Amino acid sequence: MLWIDLTHADREPLVFSERPTLAPQSGGEEVVSVGGVEFDGRVERAGRGYLLEGRVQGAAKLHCVRCLAEFDFQFGERLELHLLPSSALPQEEEKRLEMGELEVRYYDEPKLDLAEVAAEQFALTLPMKPLCAETCRGICPQCGANLNLGPCPCPEKSDDRWAPLLHWRPSE
Ligand SMILES: [Zn+2]
Ligand SMILES: [Zn+2]
Repeated sequence: MLWIDLTHADREPLVFSERPTLAPQSGGEEVVSVGGVEFDGRVERAGRGYLLEGRVQGAAKLHCVRCLAEFDFQFGERLELHLLPSSALPQEEEKRLEMGELEVRYYDEPKLDLAEVAAEQFALTLPMKPLCAETCRGICPQCGANLNLGPCPCPEKSDDRWAPLLHWRPSE
């Protein structure tokens, strides 16, 4: 939790630079850890609410879905968020459609949990299926060895189509 009081931006833009702590589970089960998160930005008055512009960056350790090994993942994403009072909800809903792609968040009290926004942003930057590398070879289905580290001792799976050749001898 890292609350900021939005009313501090009523007179002049509120500039912030925070280091929120994110729980790994905020990104899903492939996330091992998240660290060094930096959330820099500014909040300014906009219409009936506020506009937040900023950037969330940091580093995480993820599990590769193919080989199950941990790998480093860097993220850095800009965000723009419109903050509107919930009281504005019915009227603003139409405007929201006009605003198109912009992200809108409603509040009851004029305050915002920056850690929560950072966690959401982090979750958005994560790949659906994290891979340590596009070329990841995965694990051997028989012994479970990580094939990126080299071939495992399992015999090559014989392919029946070629079996006759294994017994072929040149006739003399
Ligand atoms: Zn992998
Ligand atoms: Zn194997």
